[in-house]
Amino acid sequence: MYRTHTCGELRMRDAGKAVTLAGWVQRVRNFGGMLFLDIRDRYGITQLVFNPEHNAAASQLANELGREYVILAMGKVAERSNKNAQMPTGEIEIHVEHLEVLNASKTPPFTIEEETDGGDELRMNYRYLDLRRNNNQQNLLHRHQVARAVREYLDGQNFVDIETPHLIKSTPEGARDFVVPSRLNPGQFYALPQSPQTFKQLLMVAGYDRYYQIVRCFRDEDLRQDRQPEFTQIDCEMAFVRREDVLHMFEGMVKFVFKKVRGIELPDFPRMSYDDAIHDYGNDKPDLRFEMKFVHLKEGETNLVGERSFKPFDEAEMVAGICVNGCADYTRKHLDELTEFVKRPQLGATGLVYIRCLADGTFKSSVDKFYTAEDLKIIAAKFNAVPGDLLLILAGPAGRTGKALSELRLEMGNRLGLRRKEDYKPLWVLDFPLFEYDAEENRWNAMHHPFTSWRPEDEAFFESDPGKIKANAYDIVLNGVEIGGGSIRIHKRDRQEKMFTMLGLTKEEALQKFGFILNAFEFGAPPHGGIAFGFDRFCSMTIANQENIRDFIAFPKNNMGRDMMLDAPGTIDEKQKKELGLK
Ligand code: ASP
Repeated sequence: MYRTHTCGELRMRDAGKAVTLAGWVQRVRNFGGMLFLDIRDRYGITQLVFNPEHNAAASQLANELGREYVILAMGKVAERSNKNAQMPTGEIEIHVEHLEVLNASKTPPFTIEEETDGGDELRMNYRYLDLRRNNNQQNLLHRHQVARAVREYLDGQNFVDIETPHLIKSTPEGARDFVVPSRLNPGQFYALPQSPQTFKQLLMVAGYDRYYQIVRCFRDEDLRQDRQPEFTQIDCEMAFVRREDVLHMFEGMVKFVFKKVRGIELPDFPRMSYDDAIHDYGNDKPDLRFEMKFVHLKEGETNLVGERSFKPFDEAEMVAGICVNGCADYTRKHLDELTEFVKRPQLGATGLVYIRCLADGTFKSSVDKFYTAEDLKIIAAKFNAVPGDLLLILAGPAGRTGKALSELRLEMGNRLGLRRKEDYKPLWVLDFPLFEYDAEENRWNAMHHPFTSWRPEDEAFFESDPGKIKANAYDIVLNGVEIGGGSIRIHKRDRQEKMFTMLGLTKEEALQKFGFILNAFEFGAPPHGGIAFGFDRFCSMTIANQENIRDFIAFPKNNMGRDMMLDAPGTIDEKQKKELGLK
């Protein structure tokens, strides 16, 4: 055996055993001739001790080692006189009798510790060193555990893991395609799948009934912290299901994973319509770890703020606010900060109105000039405000104002510590609109994707008001992050054609792009539906409760879509270009 134990394994019960460990040098300390060396591997860290009086050669060699040298040490497990309760192996040490250097190491450009001194870019360049750090190793091990739990659950439910191709024709998920030139078909290109959407539907036509795949998807989008050009989905599809069946199956999966991997029992997931989510939280993925719902002061017949000559309210389509408990004593400075926050160009609010609910039952607001004490009382009552509360109100066009208020709500949640790390609040959001209008292009787009079916009762809106049609689509949201989404699909050719027509495709275009699936729908396509989870994000949310998916991907790309270590993408030579018909 190369090694008898790992560096995280030995305990008091092993005292006296002769062992062989292999790993990396974490650090070496010299105490008056005695050398203490921490040896590290994936499993942990163990202290090695070298005593020059007992073993001069090994001690001499140990003295010459630098950080990250790979070594093999043989010796005896002994009880430590100076125990370290912080370390699982902290009760023992190895008295080394024989030491070998398996490989030397240059001094690493940053420390291989949880709190490293290396910046982002440097660590991306040396990702293999970054991946040696314990936090990264824990993240990837977590990812592995989540994948295992997902498979265990789905296998148990008769799902079949089937691979689908990566060199395909475009699948429309609303992003740009990455394309691959075809050498054998000069001038022609494959697209990399944005998702296996059409294939999983074809598998339902083929009778596989329950499919899943943990699969790489590719989308050429502008990148953000939580996006990667290639990412992984848990992609699933089921035949002979209604929405309820799908929700039930995948709520079960999320619960199973939490229980299995984290030991956390999640209660049944609440459900909310898209319209309610937008109305109450200004957002189709509300963070339900805290309440702070929107209160609308001006909508429909209601207008609690009208006709007081306060222009921003008089002219606004929407006036709404949130009630922040216990913040009536916010200082001018705090309020200025919040005003700046909502006025940032990304949010674009024109200003922020506040009302402080004072201890004596009176109010102090930024609109005292326009609203009487009685007005403010009526408004505060609408918020169910009590003394000590701070009301924050925004006004303007509905879409933008809702979005800005949503961000303000999240910001207040952060400030008040209401978005707790160990709190998990999942949610189903249902009844999304089928279409969203693209004003620039002057046409309707599918909000989910063009294979999503709609509520039969909304059929008439196709002629009168397509914006009103509700899709048979659902999203699963966890703590304000969308972790998955899916729909019940169209499974009849004429319905699918109707959809393509709405999206502005001519009959010829529809046939050229999607003839294969239109044809398949004529050969006994069963009713079907499914869902896909963003696996990287699911991993990050199930442990860190944070969206930084990069930490859960072994070799991620940076914000420019570059692999820093490989220096990809790169150019190709002329010969290769020619072969590919690119020149
Ligand atoms: N293919 C969809 C997506 O990638 C998920 C689904 O509808 O199942 O978002």
